[in-house]
Amino acid sequence: MEQKEDLLKEVISHAKEYGFVFPSSEIYDGLAATYDYGQLGAELKNNIKQYWWKAMVQMHDNIVGIDASIFMHPTTWKASGHVDAFNDPLIDNKDSKKRYRADVLIEEHIEKIRQKINKEVEKAAKKFGDAFDEAQFRATNPNVLRNETKITEIEDRMRVTLENNDLEGVKQLIEDLEIVCPISGSRNWTEVRQFNLMFSTEMGSVAGDASTIYLRPETAQGIFVNFLNVQKTGRMKIPFGIAQIGKAFRNEIVARQFIFRMREFEQMEMQFFVRPGEEMKWYNHWKETRLKWHKALGLGEKYYREHDHIKLAHYANAACDIEFDFPMGFKELEGIHSRTDFDLKQHEQYSGKKLQYFDPELNQNYVPYVVETSVGLDRMFLAVMSASYKNEQLEDGSERVVLRLPAQLAPYKVAVMPLTKKDGLPEKANEILDDLRFDFNCQYDEKDSPGKRYRRQDAIGTPYCIMVDHQTLEDNTVTIRDRDTMLQERVAITDLRSKIDAKVSWRNLLTK
Ligand code: ATP
Repeated sequence: MEQKEDLLKEVISHAKEYGFVFPSSEIYDGLAATYDYGQLGAELKNNIKQYWWKAMVQMHDNIVGIDASIFMHPTTWKASGHVDAFNDPLIDNKDSKKRYRADVLIEEHIEKIRQKINKEVEKAAKKFGDAFDEAQFRATNPNVLRNETKITEIEDRMRVTLENNDLEGVKQLIEDLEIVCPISGSRNWTEVRQFNLMFSTEMGSVAGDASTIYLRPETAQGIFVNFLNVQKTGRMKIPFGIAQIGKAFRNEIVARQFIFRMREFEQMEMQFFVRPGEEMKWYNHWKETRLKWHKALGLGEKYYREHDHIKLAHYANAACDIEFDFPMGFKELEGIHSRTDFDLKQHEQYSGKKLQYFDPELNQNYVPYVVETSVGLDRMFLAVMSASYKNEQLEDGSERVVLRLPAQLAPYKVAVMPLTKKDGLPEKANEILDDLRFDFNCQYDEKDSPGKRYRRQDAIGTPYCIMVDHQTLEDNTVTIRDRDTMLQERVAITDLRSKIDAKVSWRNLLTK
């Protein structure tokens, strides 16, 4: 556990040192939970967006992408339920003065019980060796069973109290579980209160309720209000999807863990409109498709797990999270929700406009059902960074820090280097670079020894380094060094493009 916490610290400082992520407004000592993406961070972020946009929009005939505004008519948020129900239950510890999400405190308690079970299983696995049958052990061991029952009971109570907005019941549960504040260690809690997560501001120069608008807390509503515009102008036939990447804002009670939970963040969302009654089929389809998209990056299967929701949002009839093993443990990376016809119906009601689709095959009008996939761009960034960050021990006893980023996501694909700063080598290197940069994002680097330069490129995840030496001037060949194997190979300059492309092409990822 401790090791993993160190990993988060290391990733944060690495991200800062190499220009991926800076604390925002740092010269004024920063602003809580707000970060700026630096020169390399912006590249990595753009590449993640591109991977998503290509896979979700451009590889599908029936999915298109839009870019809606952040400000929307205030009635949007009445209709969507956010004004009344986009709340988190908060609770304060009177001794530490720290504020928590009540449901998170309970979930963390459940996680602790789950860890106990896992320890029990691990212990038994060690004891019984090859003969160990985990499924049978889990089904019969009294300690495991007792703890499983405990978890189910807590989950049931949590679900019922939250669904009924029974805040006293939530508080009682926290008391019954004897949950203590991680900072003060005390059980001196306030009442549980609901807290609305939307940021509001005023439009124009007139103050007052009439001009209050919200910064969108999700990009989805920009898609719903444009449902008919896109369907009609794009001649879309159900089933079809509308995708969007954009900023969202939530006044989170506790924003922490670097870019994992911020108050301003970016979402990549797709709303898939389907025939009523077919939503579960599509829900399962998108669950599977999205998991595949994540795993194709090659960070490792072990990083992912699915988690079905017990407490459904006000709009959903099924929901699941794709969780990632972040340095702080398994947490939500993406949500897949079956949103029913809730949003479109609500907008029909509040706007007085029909938001229906005429299905020529059924010869019938209906409000489509919606399956949503929603992934946090910043969380993707953290997932990719933390799983790629490696501190490696080399054979010669030295160490290197390498970002084993999926090649397609790496900020630079190639670094071009002259062996020395003289003899016409820089000119030759620049000639190669000027040609390659039409296809790949490249960097020129001539300072310091080759070894140091290689390390620098390893640390920012550049898949290839090209070294231009004296032989290059004679026979137009260079050495190309692979980030992961560190092996160097001599190749003709004319072969460079296809060699690099074979590694960094989007096709490799999208066909997985
Ligand atoms: P959580 O339970 O972690 O608060 P959520 O269930 O409220 O997340 P959704 O409403 O499903 O999140 O939003 C979709 C995605 O947007 C999430 O899977 C996550 O990747 C991202 N996201 C949500 N809130 C934040 C935030 N405060 N900072 C960064 N990313 C976020």
